[in-house]
Amino acid sequence: MTINLEIPRKFKPLVGQAHTVATEVFRPVSRRYDREEHTYPKELDFLAAVIGGMSDGGGAGGAGAVGSRDSPSNGSAPEGSRNGSNLASALSIMELCWGDVGLLLSMPGQGLGNSAIGAVADDAQLERFGGRWAAMAITEPEAGSDSAAIRTTAVLDGDEYVLNGEKIYVTAGERAELVVVWATLDRQQGRAAIKSFVVERSNPGMKLIRVEDKLGIRASDTAAFSLEDCRVPKRDLLGDPKIQPKGGFAGVMQTFDNTRPLVAAMAIGVARAALEFTREKLAEAGVEVDPDAPPHSQPAAAAELLDMEADYEAARLLTLQACWMADNRKPNSLQASMAKAKAGRTGTDVCLRCIALCGSAGYAETELLEKWARDAKILDIFEGTQEIQLLIIARQLLKKTSADLK
Ligand SMILES: Cc1cc2nc3c(=O)[nH]c(=O)nc-3n(C[C@H](O)[C@H](O)[C@H](O)COP(=O)(O)OP(=O)(O)OC[C@H]3O[C@@H](n4cnc5c(N)ncnc54)[C@H](O)[C@@H]3O)c2cc1C
Repeated sequence: MTINLEIPRKFKPLVGQAHTVATEVFRPVSRRYDREEHTYPKELDFLAAVIGGMSDGGGAGGAGAVGSRDSPSNGSAPEGSRNGSNLASALSIMELCWGDVGLLLSMPGQGLGNSAIGAVADDAQLERFGGRWAAMAITEPEAGSDSAAIRTTAVLDGDEYVLNGEKIYVTAGERAELVVVWATLDRQQGRAAIKSFVVERSNPGMKLIRVEDKLGIRASDTAAFSLEDCRVPKRDLLGDPKIQPKGGFAGVMQTFDNTRPLVAAMAIGVARAALEFTREKLAEAGVEVDPDAPPHSQPAAAAELLDMEADYEAARLLTLQACWMADNRKPNSLQASMAKAKAGRTGTDVCLRCIALCGSAGYAETELLEKWARDAKILDIFEGTQEIQLLIIARQLLKKTSADLK
């Protein structure tokens, strides 16, 4: 089998467009919206049209932009192998995050909730919610990594569900038009009873408690909500309203098979920004980097850069593999977690090691490298932390259930 590591020709225009957005729109305002946390980056509004164009080219740019309608859980067998929308999304996300992760996460219409809607909405729901910006609210004060522990309840009352609980750390929660809320129909029945509901941000039962001040991705808003007798039409429950003891929760979790590689792609974009910057600084300092010479025959800084580039390539290839598998409807949970674990850690490591190599140019606010290091950290936390990815990988390799290996 031959492996072609080039970007597929059909995606080159998309990657070029994303790179232009990163260079011309994101980078020039990157520092500004890092300093002015909570100010809406109005430059993003006009990008909505561009995103539409990019979607036509095979995939959009935002976090969770693609639903798992292309995933292994859906549809019939593929006809041959293809490079599809997951791969396109990952490639454009890498470019856009080379520009700015926080701004990518703030792009209208590209929320994680859009991914959940894309994955499980029926045709009528797609009609109602398609094209609207949807955030995703899973995390609660008592439920982070263990999403099966959520306490928010949903009780059917006539034609409406009544939701009560608290949600924290909702990316784009303040700015999005919709929030996909995870709630349980019956806590006694465990994970099988967890369902997701599309809630209008304007719903009076959903109250914004606060917007967080953060270490990184400061251009992106992160909201906390309380749900107080929040009434949601019955038809806005996503997926099967019945509690299915087998497979129900696994279905919800499959959204992550598509979104984790996209978060990995974000980390790869930041890592590349840091590596390119560092390579330039080393060149200015007269350090020559020779990829063909053994590390011990080169200056220590050059060997360090090559070492980081090898990690970066490994993370990138794992990510492309996970996306390609999703596009070809191959089960990819293992590869999605491997990509997320490797890229999440590589993004953080690379940025910090680049700061070490660049010295004051790496640490000062005169350059963006210190900001990239702050931005990169979240990519090893949300959509499942480093430890949780390793746990998922171990379970799969050892053929253990979540009850066997906690
Ligand atoms: C900026 C930001 C944006 C976010 N956006 C969203 C969003 O849009 N929607 C959403 O629902 N959530 C979002 N989150 C929440 C995020 O997904 C959680 O923070 C994450 O899943 C970890 O949960 P936790 O913070 O409760 O940590 P905990 O689950 O309490 O974990 C704390 C530490 O313990 C480790 N740990 C936990 N369990 C295990 C275990 N079994 N084995 C080994 N180690 C373990 C974790 O890896 C971590 O290091 C966001 C968070 C942040 C900071």
